Amino acid sequence: MEIAIIAHDGKKAEMVQFLNQHNEILHKKGINLISTGTTGEKVIKAGFSVHALMSGPLGGDAQIAARVAEGKCNMVLFFRDPLDRHPHEPDILMLMRLCDVHNVPLATNPASADLLVKAL
Ligand code: PGA
Repeated sequence: MEIAIIAHDGKKAEMVQFLNQHNEILHKKGINLISTGTTGEKVIKAGFSVHALMSGPLGGDAQIAARVAEGKCNMVLFFRDPLDRHPHEPDILMLMRLCDVHNVPLATNPASADLLVKAL
């Protein structure tokens, strides 16, 4: 199972904290984590094994969206920062839209992500 993790700059620390809290579940055999570039760097530094794609503003969200469309990515944990502006807003909307098109579970905040991960 492939799970994508993405966190906007204001939410990266929360993502690391979330992964540490759910360490045991996420280290289960058969779970592969992918991420956007900068989120991946932070998460790898925190000791997780993640396949980092491009940075979000350079196309990372679009790469993850493509994997959702292709049926390769099975869950998206996307900690968005609603108080910041993002140059790649169209890519973010595309990713969320494709999750809905393909019925892929999408959590946009830690409380929702907690419920999804606990259901694994
Ligand atoms: P980043 O991208 O992990 O490269 O910062 C996240 C995003 O802004 O979508």
